[in-house]
Amino acid sequence: MKIVHSEAHARHDPQFFLMRGIAKASTEQPERAERLLAAASAAGHAVEAPEAFGPGPRAAVHTPEYLRFLETAHAEWQGLGDSAPEIVPNVHPNRYPAGYPASIVGRAGWHMADTACPIGPGTFAAACAAGDVATAAAEHLLDGGDHIYGLCRPPGHHAYADMAGGFCFLNNSAIAAQRLRQAYDRVAILDVDVHHGNGTQGIFWRRSDVLTVSLHADPLHFYPFFWGHAGERGEGDGEGYNLNLPLPLGTGDADWLEALERQAFATIRAFAPGALVVALGLDAFEGDPLRGLAITTPGFAMMGAAIARLGLPTALIQEGGYLAPELGDNLVSFLSGFEGAR
Ligand SMILES: [Zn+2]
Repeated sequence: MKIVHSEAHARHDPQFFLMRGIAKASTEQPERAERLLAAASAAGHAVEAPEAFGPGPRAAVHTPEYLRFLETAHAEWQGLGDSAPEIVPNVHPNRYPAGYPASIVGRAGWHMADTACPIGPGTFAAACAAGDVATAAAEHLLDGGDHIYGLCRPPGHHAYADMAGGFCFLNNSAIAAQRLRQAYDRVAILDVDVHHGNGTQGIFWRRSDVLTVSLHADPLHFYPFFWGHAGERGEGDGEGYNLNLPLPLGTGDADWLEALERQAFATIRAFAPGALVVALGLDAFEGDPLRGLAITTPGFAMMGAAIARLGLPTALIQEGGYLAPELGDNLVSFLSGFEGAR
């Protein structure tokens, strides 16, 4: 399988992570991409770097204000003096009507949903490179390619049009889907990451041209907590074009695959998209440090094969999946399952 990847991912090397009030090293480390790349290369997949597409693809799904913030925030934050090396917000507008602040501290709270998306000096460059990877994956399909894997880092599916969150800054899967709209009237995004794709849902919430489907650990007990419930179906033109399939914590291969085939695929087939974007998180793995679901390494091959049998031009976009010894094996398992069923 053709793989697109940018070494610029390493410019984003987040240090801060807050879990249950305890500050620790971020789970979203550059080593993730290095391990995924090494495993895919060792399995014989060909790797290419993306071209630089400029600001157009990210501006097609993110607001100008947010992109300006991401680009300039770190320098401004450093200018405050007596500030940490990374931007971590400490105040948020929350649920009440609010005004856009001038202060960089206020804007950090406005544009960052939580403390799991610290912005360092290279974060914007790395996020833009991941957006280029996603765009290149979409371009491959637009050029007549059948399927491709974009090894994006940082991940993207928690990023809204104007808000970072959960390790994510630019929504790579949304960027790919939006790009595919150039040739296809309808595009579906299937999110198999253990976490709900809340940013992706938010971006396409009022649209009927991009179907968003997410299988994930039930947010009643798992990040992103506030979104990902079954009752969220979209609004306005988008009503009925978002499907959430929250699953009990610890759900394994058989029940996961049944939800995929019986509910997710039924909705995707009824939508009849021209192309598919898979938000390919590998953190539903039973041994992932974040421990939400219990997919096995062979289970990822079954997942890949089932998705391949939909028969759609498919861009696989890397989302989560953290440092377990089997991380690379899980990717290779998914890719071989996919190719074997194509
Ligand atoms: Zn995840």
